[in-house]
Amino acid sequence: MSLVCVINSGSSSIKYQLIDLATGAAVVSGLLERIGEEGSPVPNHEFGMSIVLAKLGDRSAEISAVGHRVVHGGPNFDGPALVTAEVEAEINDLSALAPLHNPANLLGIRAAKIALPTVPHVAVFDTAFHQTLPADSYTYAIDTELAAQYRVRRYGFHGTSHEYVSRAAAEFLGRPLETLKTIVLHLGNGASVAAIDGGRSIDTSMGLTPLEGLVMGTRSGDIDAGVIFHLARQAGLSIDELDVLLNRRSGLLGLTGSGDMRDVQEAASRGNTAAQAALAVWRHRIRHYIGAYIAELGGLDALVFTAGIGENNSLLRRRALAGLEFLGIEIDDDRNELASRAARFISPEGATVSVLVIPTNEELEIARQTAALVGV
Ligand code: ADP
Repeated sequence: MSLVCVINSGSSSIKYQLIDLATGAAVVSGLLERIGEEGSPVPNHEFGMSIVLAKLGDRSAEISAVGHRVVHGGPNFDGPALVTAEVEAEINDLSALAPLHNPANLLGIRAAKIALPTVPHVAVFDTAFHQTLPADSYTYAIDTELAAQYRVRRYGFHGTSHEYVSRAAAEFLGRPLETLKTIVLHLGNGASVAAIDGGRSIDTSMGLTPLEGLVMGTRSGDIDAGVIFHLARQAGLSIDELDVLLNRRSGLLGLTGSGDMRDVQEAASRGNTAAQAALAVWRHRIRHYIGAYIAELGGLDALVFTAGIGENNSLLRRRALAGLEFLGIEIDDDRNELASRAARFISPEGATVSVLVIPTNEELEIARQTAALVGV
């Protein structure tokens, strides 16, 4: 049996899955937390990986490759890469663009290479799928020299999910990916939209960092950069404080006091006006992007919901799309209400645009890309 181990390493956590490529199923999965925290029995990632290995038991002998999620591939990576000393150095160099994520991803890579030294290790980047963005869509209108020197441009994230879901949509519809114009709404705790033309990402809502775009659990999404200057000058906030404000204390959390959509929705249904207003802002931003991306794509064949909110919340799906019938976008209430873990239509039979729910599976996509790269 060919198993691929998928590792998603954070600064204090290691998520792992052992994936059987023949079935696509995760045969073992788990999460190690509080790595390196005070009083934690797991002092560092190296020790953490030895625990993971022990949990995998005999199955570890069947591992043919390890796939690592890496958040930022910058302009360097447009696909998965075999982890060599050079690739490690590049990931490290890209830490300037993702200071919280890339160093943590590297800790996982280094620890896993020690734990599993005889198999190939592959880095799969969240940004890679969006490297097809044309220059007009990835360029910020600022001084070009400064932008080039500091690698400032739109990169986009959730690429592994957008790629998996857009391909799964084409398979589900039984149509060649090359012919489809698709919008994927990845609505989880972090959220992003992508416009995908014939399998190529042509625009996406996240930018240099995962802060831009939709209203998220704790991130503001789109905001006038002038807000930063204004708050720095008037409220006396430092750059670090503004970073925390926009990344960790904004979005649904900033608007309502909770970053979890379930809480917000419940509060709204009880008549809480702040929660109701937050849902309206959340919805407004989604519709703003749908309209923009239909214009960029020059039409639309499929609109796909995925991730925590997109897969599980029929009411928010309905509200997000209400009134867009003039664009050919319709929802069938019975189909939308059907609770299921499978890919499914939620648009009526024969609708112009196929509206779908497709559960994402980033680990499976990482495993497949890893296997394809190393030929196992
Ligand atoms: P992440 O972005 O962390 O990978 P997920 O894609 O798993 O997260 O999405 C998690 C989020 O999805 C949670 O923060 C929660 O708010 C939201 N969520 C999950 N189920 C529901 C639901 N039934 N209704 C509304 N929100 C939900």
